[in-house]
Amino acid sequence: MQSSMLHSLIIAYKLHEHMSIIPPEIASIEDLKEFHSSDYYLHLCASAALSDRVLLTHVLPIASDCPIFPNLANYVRLVAGGTISAAKLLTEGGYDVAIHWDGGRHHGKRDSACGFCYINDIVLGILELHKKYERILYLDLDIHHGDGVEQAFQTTSKVLTVSFHKYEPGFFPGTGSIDDVGYGKGLNHSLNIPLRPGFSGVGLRYLFSRVIDSAMENYNPDAIVIQCGADGLANDPLVGRGGWNLDERSIGECVAKTLSFNKPTLVLGGGGYGNPNAARCWAWCTAVIVQQEELISEDIPDHPFLNKYGPDFRLPVDLTFYKDRNDTRYVDDVIKKV
Ligand code: MN
Repeated sequence: MQSSMLHSLIIAYKLHEHMSIIPPEIASIEDLKEFHSSDYYLHLCASAALSDRVLLTHVLPIASDCPIFPNLANYVRLVAGGTISAAKLLTEGGYDVAIHWDGGRHHGKRDSACGFCYINDIVLGILELHKKYERILYLDLDIHHGDGVEQAFQTTSKVLTVSFHKYEPGFFPGTGSIDDVGYGKGLNHSLNIPLRPGFSGVGLRYLFSRVIDSAMENYNPDAIVIQCGADGLANDPLVGRGGWNLDERSIGECVAKTLSFNKPTLVLGGGGYGNPNAARCWAWCTAVIVQQEELISEDIPDHPFLNKYGPDFRLPVDLTFYKDRNDTRYVDDVIKKV
């Protein structure tokens, strides 16, 4: 539902006329094994096959927040394949920017599914980029900590991971303290930016810009991956009260700022549980990437999913009145430490 709404909105705004749309390859089992353990996919298929006949919520290694659904085995290969194909457009396709809005599954682990992420397409995409680019900067805007990607690269200096996330006792996945900075050769190559409820677009723009400027200057990556999880948008139904208060413009500005460094850039989606708002955000980001912001009318054009955008049928995401608990002093302290 999320992706058909998004793709339909992108077409309604005629943004597809300003980019190449390239069907992804389906990832092979060998592709998945570049990161995932050799038994993992087999377990996944076995669980999916069993669930057709027996009602099972827990079959190794599926977490309770990763229910089995029909066609799961093909779904993971498509998600992974989309991101790997997008990465290949940067390594061998001659493109500067590649987008895969259905990718960005940052919680997937080497041998387990976690947090709605059955496969870690981001890690697979970064490994593909490594075939051509030595140093990769990974930026994660999702409200949840990008734990799977951090864990995969925490002992190497070839990937600098930077995760902006809400960090509070009890908030999923619970990791991402500012003191976690990587190990061994990866020491100081995992950056965590823990934030409090109510984080606003003003705060994000300021913080993102300071952090990326410093990362570009000190790390000088050869390519960039940005995960644009949209669950930090105001009123995300899964995160609920205590969430963030972002709008599509502030996330779009982070994307624009990232592209301003003219490095090969892979743009991915991620969380975002209010389908209309996630579609609003990623359609706007698409316009930013193809530099066609003028095509975006504030009134959403007529298209098959128009009725989902009520009651106002407008593009801008409605903000909440929650107080931003990240005051300037807190944000400046975080910047200093990071
Ligand atoms: Mn998330």
